Amino acid sequence: MITIPRIKRAPLRAAFPAFPDRRVILFLDLNETLIRTGEVGLRDRLTEQRQHETFCELCVALAARRPPLDVVLLTGNSFEYSRRIEEPLGLKNRAGIDVTIVSENGLLARAFRRGDLWRETPAPAYAEATMRFLDAMKRDQKLGAAFYSQGNEVRLTLKPVANRFLDEELTVATAIAERSDPRGAVQFYFHPFYIDADPKEIIVDGHARPFGGKAYAVERLLAEEDRFPIAIGDSLSDAPAFASVAAHGGCSFLIGNADHPRLAGAIRVGAPFAAGVNAVLRALLDAP
Ligand SMILES: [Mg+2]
Repeated sequence: MITIPRIKRAPLRAAFPAFPDRRVILFLDLNETLIRTGEVGLRDRLTEQRQHETFCELCVALAARRPPLDVVLLTGNSFEYSRRIEEPLGLKNRAGIDVTIVSENGLLARAFRRGDLWRETPAPAYAEATMRFLDAMKRDQKLGAAFYSQGNEVRLTLKPVANRFLDEELTVATAIAERSDPRGAVQFYFHPFYIDADPKEIIVDGHARPFGGKAYAVERLLAEEDRFPIAIGDSLSDAPAFASVAAHGGCSFLIGNADHPRLAGAIRVGAPFAAGVNAVLRALLDAP
């Protein structure tokens, strides 16, 4: 018998007065939401492993209640990185669970039961602006050696060579971004753990169309079939997904370690990281 640890969840219960009457689709951020990044000691790593086991058990239980359950790992990271997070969980092999990885903040989607779903192309102005930005960052005395570029397939992400970018480094990077992108072709996200550069527009059938970051993936997957969407995240780049989920009558959650105390429409969870994710899923499972 599987026993799922109980979590304090009184404030979350109100989010799910009844179990959704539609299939559930869970949009889940990875870094600093399902997993902690940076150096993590053995004790904390083991704790996280147990929490991931609980996470999988909760997903299985939710899928049993109304199959199938869609789990969408919705991340600013690359596909290969995300696949490596999913692999030890083994979720994609569980009955009644469909796992999709939407990487690079919505530009790429691959599903484990359906293969490649989409791969978007940024508008040409994006490539010009990000090239100027990257050149200027490399030439900057303070920042030139402070980052490396993430192994993305479509767009640019910079990661700090130290564990995190300092506030003053992000301030300089913000000024460089403003100078490099006079036409506003790039949606920059500046965070201590990353600098994401998303395109404001993508090319669809030869025409430039607005690209809404993580909201793009929410809209596109919900257009296939109406489902009850739930989004869980920790940072500003999750805000577009939260807004889109709200527009579709779903619920969004900002976990305990989030760097923003609040984001429009999101319910704040007390517990951090995977424990926060589990608290949300437990509350959903317990809904009458
Ligand atoms: Mg995150």
